[in-house]
Amino acid sequence: MTGATNGGPVGQVVRRAGDGFEQRYGGPPAGVWAAPGRVNLIGEHTDYNDGFVLPFALPHRTVVAASTAADDSWTVWSEQSGEQIVISAADVARPGAVDGWGGYVAGVIWALREAGFAVPAARLAIASDVPLGAGLSSSAALEAAVLTALVDLGGIGTDRLPVDQRPVLAQRAENGYVGVPSGIMDQSASIRCRAGHALFLDCRSLQVEQIPFDLATAGLAILVVDSQAPHRHVSGEYAARRATCEQAAAVLGVPALRDVPVDALPAALNRLPDDTMRRRVRHIVTENQRVLDTVALLHTGRVREIGPLLTASHASMRDDFEITVPEVDVAVGAALGAGAYGARMTGGGFGGCVLALVDADAAGQVAAAVDKAYADNGFTAPVCFTALPCAGAERIH
Ligand code: ADP
Ligand code: MG
Repeated sequence: MTGATNGGPVGQVVRRAGDGFEQRYGGPPAGVWAAPGRVNLIGEHTDYNDGFVLPFALPHRTVVAASTAADDSWTVWSEQSGEQIVISAADVARPGAVDGWGGYVAGVIWALREAGFAVPAARLAIASDVPLGAGLSSSAALEAAVLTALVDLGGIGTDRLPVDQRPVLAQRAENGYVGVPSGIMDQSASIRCRAGHALFLDCRSLQVEQIPFDLATAGLAILVVDSQAPHRHVSGEYAARRATCEQAAAVLGVPALRDVPVDALPAALNRLPDDTMRRRVRHIVTENQRVLDTVALLHTGRVREIGPLLTASHASMRDDFEITVPEVDVAVGAALGAGAYGARMTGGGFGGCVLALVDADAAGQVAAAVDKAYADNGFTAPVCFTALPCAGAERIH
C-alpha cells in the first residue's frame, strides 16, 4: 500500500514535469501548475439528475510546466503517453480534430477561445501520478492543470475568469471537443476543492460549499482501493441509466429526479410503470438524501458516523442501480469485515475504485484484508492507498 503525501510522490511529479520541460525545450519553464484527481465521498449518478455530490481532491496530481511560445501553436509532451505533439490553431478551431490525450489539451484551448479569451501559444510538459482511466478523474486533472496554466500564462486572472467559472470551461473541453458527455463534478473537484474539506456541489445551481472533512484530527483516513477490474460496457450502461432516470422524471412530471424528496418517494414509486425504473429512482432519491445527511454529520464533526451512509450507498448501487461488479463488492465486504466504518464503490461503476473510512492506523490491515479477499477470489491484485483531502488546482512555482 502507498500513501501519497506532499514532498513524497507529488514532489517527484513536480520534478519530472520540470525536468521534462528543460530536456524538451532547452530552458526552465515560466511556471509550474498542478491539479488533483478526486474521489467522490458520496453521491453517485446524482449529478445528471441535478442532484448533490461530495468529492474531495486526492494528493495525486497532474503537473504542467509551461512557458509561452513565439509561434501560433501549442507543443505538448506527456510523460504518461511518452509522446510530444504539436496542436495548431486550425486543430483548435475544429472540435475533435486532435484525438487521444491531446484532445483534452486542445479542448481546453478551444473552450477558452470560445469564451472569448486570447490563449497564448505555449510549450507544455506534463507529468502525473493520477492513474489513467481508474475512475480517479485523470481527465479532469489534465484539463484543470492545463487550463490553470494557460489562464495564468495569458495573464487572464481571476478578475476576468473567476475560479467558479472555470469548471464549466474545462467540462466544455471534454463534452464539446473530446466528445465525452461527462457531468460537472470532476472538473469542479479538481479546480475548487480545498485541503481538509470535501466539496458539496449542487449540480443544478452549481453552488458549492466547502465542508470540513478533517480526517487527520479524527485519527481517520480514507483507504482507496483501485479494483483494477476492467471497465465493462461502461458507456452503454451509463447511457441506459441516464435514459431511465430521464423517463422516470417525465412520468413523475418533474424536471429531474432531484425534485423528488425522500418523503415523497413511496408515492412516486407507486406511479412508476416497472420494477427496474422503481429501483433506479429509489437509488437516486435516497442517494441525494444520503449526501445531505453526510454533509449534516460533517458539519458537526461527526466524521465516523458517516460510515453507515457510505455502506448504504454501496448497497443501493449494487441492488437498485446495479452498477457494481464482483471486484468492488468483494473489496467493500472485505474492508467492512476488517473493521472499516463504512465502504462504497466510488465513481460511475462497472469497475473503478472503492473507498473505505478507516482508523488511520488500521489502514494497512484493512488493505491486507482486501488483498487477501482478491487472492481468494482469483482477482488481479488491487492497488491500495490512503488519501486525505488535498488542495485543488494551483500554481506551484
Ligand atoms: P479518468 O478520468 O477516470 O482517469 P477518463 O477515461 O475520463 O478516465 O480519462 C482518461 C484519459 O485521459 C486517458 O486515456 C488519456 O487520454 C487522458 N489523460 C489523462 N491524464 C493524462 C496524462 N497525464 N497524459 C496523457 N493523457 C492523459
Ligand atoms: Mg474522466
